[in-house]
Amino acid sequence: MITLTKVNKSFGSNHVLKDIDLTVKIGEKLVVIGPSGSGKSTMIRCMNLLERPNSGSVTVDGVDLTAANASVNQVRQSAAMVFQQFNLYPHKTVLENLTLAPTLLKGVKKEAAAATGMAFLDRVGLKEKADAYPSQLSGGQQQRVAIARALNMHPKIMLFDEPTSALDPEMIKEVLDVMVDLANEGITMVVVTHEMGFARRVADRVIFMDEGRIMEQGTPEHFFVNPDHDRTKLFLSRIL
Ligand code: ADP
Ligand code: MG
Repeated sequence: MITLTKVNKSFGSNHVLKDIDLTVKIGEKLVVIGPSGSGKSTMIRCMNLLERPNSGSVTVDGVDLTAANASVNQVRQSAAMVFQQFNLYPHKTVLENLTLAPTLLKGVKKEAAAATGMAFLDRVGLKEKADAYPSQLSGGQQQRVAIARALNMHPKIMLFDEPTSALDPEMIKEVLDVMVDLANEGITMVVVTHEMGFARRVADRVIFMDEGRIMEQGTPEHFFVNPDHDRTKLFLSRIL
């Protein structure tokens, strides 16, 4: 579903991604961990053209994102992103947040987008908030709306960049529960998170990034029981 081949990315003289090779299979749940600044966000952003690599190739659902004619709209329809900061449109209602992209980018009729939007709001437990504004919701509720909004594009891949890092502790579980439900439905997921409980429950594979490289990968058990590298052990000892 996603293939990165020898991906390099620099910001000025800061070489952030170094020869990243990664394949994510259809339906796979990949969790990405690693210290701050190791390139996790940059890598996941390369998967939906929020960043372009300087070299190497990124293919998502058969589309070469590094090709000159790659269509941003097409790519963002197949891979939807949920961010640490929920990025809801503050002046739109919850339901309007869900209908905007499908109507503008995919030409879906407003009524149809609203109908599927209500179904996704129901799934994240927020149907009754359809007419509320984001500022009237808690952080956990806003993030659940952001997930419903992403789902309303009917993506093939869900990309999550530290979706619970900005939340108060008591709200983390309600968001992770929605993500676990989603994972159980078989969608391909790439999740940057340090929630190792989540990783243990859903990840098929965990990758540990350090200084722009994939240092180590394996099952969640591998990371808990016997990681290979000292850097990995040190990192895990700090977050667990
Ligand atoms: P992580 O998500 O693992 O914390 P990032 O991918 O956000 O790491 O950042 C990796 C490095 O790239 C950091 O040194 C960061 O400062 C730098 N960086 C990320 N995005 C940009 C940008 N848009 N412009 C300049 N530097 C950036
Ligand atoms: Mg990041």
